[in-house]
Amino acid sequence: MSQAHIGRAVVTGGAGFVGSHLCEHLLDAGAEVVCVDNFATGSAANVRHLADRAGFSTLEADATHPLVVPGRVDTVFHLASAASPRDYLRLPVETLEAGSRGTRNALDLAAEHGARTVLASTSEVYGDPLHHPQHESYWGNVNPVGPRSVYDEAKRYAEALTMAFHRSRGADVGIARIFNSYGPRMRPDDGRAVPTFIRQALAAEPITVSGDGMQTRSVCYVDDTVRGLIALARSGIVGPVNIGSPHELSMRRLAELVRGVCGSDSPIVAVGRPADDPRFRRPDTSLAARALGWRPLVPMEEGLRRTVAWFVRTRAAAAPGEDR
Ligand code: NAD
Repeated sequence: MSQAHIGRAVVTGGAGFVGSHLCEHLLDAGAEVVCVDNFATGSAANVRHLADRAGFSTLEADATHPLVVPGRVDTVFHLASAASPRDYLRLPVETLEAGSRGTRNALDLAAEHGARTVLASTSEVYGDPLHHPQHESYWGNVNPVGPRSVYDEAKRYAEALTMAFHRSRGADVGIARIFNSYGPRMRPDDGRAVPTFIRQALAAEPITVSGDGMQTRSVCYVDDTVRGLIALARSGIVGPVNIGSPHELSMRRLAELVRGVCGSDSPIVAVGRPADDPRFRRPDTSLAARALGWRPLVPMEEGLRRTVAWFVRTRAAAAPGEDR
C-alpha cells in the first residue's frame, strides 16, 4: 500500500554520498532510519554526525546477502551500489551484484514488511543517448559489453526486476532515475567531475577535462536530489521518474565555474575521453514536476559554493591518514 509518510526507513548505501544526505533529510522529516552499508565505497564518517540523533541506527551488512532488519520497516530506499566510474570499474562484479542480488534483497525485505521500495536508478540507463533531452519514455542506447555496462546494465536489470515485482506481485515501488548529483561528502578522489575539479583547483593543479570538454551534463545539488527521492517515496508513483537538474552545461564550462568559485588560477587541460562516455545528458523533468511537485531549487553557483566550502573545511580538519 502506498503511503504519504515514510515511517521507518531502511537506506541501503546509507553511508555513501547521496545515502548519507538522504538519511539526514529523512531524520529531519521525522522518520526513523536504519542505514545499511558494507562501506565498500562509503564511509562510517559520512554518518557519524547522525549517530546521536533519535531514531537513527547503522547496520553493517552487504546488500547482496539477504537483509535481516529487526523491527518494523515502512520504506526501503535501495541505493547500495558503487556509483562513480572509478569505483565501478574497480568493482565490476560487485556492481553487477549490487544491482541484481542487492535489488532482489531490497525488494524481498520490502515484501516481508509490506513496505514501499524506492530504487535509486540512474540516467546511465539512457547510455549515450540518441534523444535529447532524455524523457522517461526513451529506452536508451547502452553498449551491453563495454566497460561501463557493469553499472548501466545492473541498473537496467534493477529497474526490470522492480517492475516485475510490481506487475506480478503487486509490490509498492518507485523508480528514480537520478542524473549527476554533487555536493559535500563526495570523495575528492572518486573520479567524478565536480570533486575532481574542486580538488585540482584547490591544489592549484591543472583541471583535467576529458576530450574537447564540449560533452554536456546537468548536475543537481544533492539536497535537491534527496528531496526528489523523498517526494517519490511519499507519492505512490511507480515511475520511472527523472530526478535531476534541467540546467545543462559543458564540462569545460563546469570546470570554469568550479575554478571561479575556488578562486583558482589553474589551467584547464584536455585528457582522453573514457570509452562510451555519453556526449549529452539533460533530463526532461516534466514528470517529476507534474507527479511529484518537485524541481531543483539550489542554483549551481550556490551549490558549488557549499561544496567547495565543505572540501576546504574537511581538508583543513583531516589529519594525515584519517578516515574521511
Ligand atoms: P557512493 O559510492 O557514495 O554510495 C554508495 C554506497 O553504497 C556506499 O556507501 C557503499 O559502501 C554502499 N554499498 C555498495 N555496495 C554495497 C553492498 N553490496 N551492500 C551494502 N552497501 C553497499 O555513491 P552515491 O553517489 O552516493 O550513489 C548512491 C546511489 O545513487 C547509487 O545506487 C547510484 O547508482 C545512484 N546514483 C547516484 C548518482 C550520483 O550522481 N551520485 C547518479 C545516479 C544514480
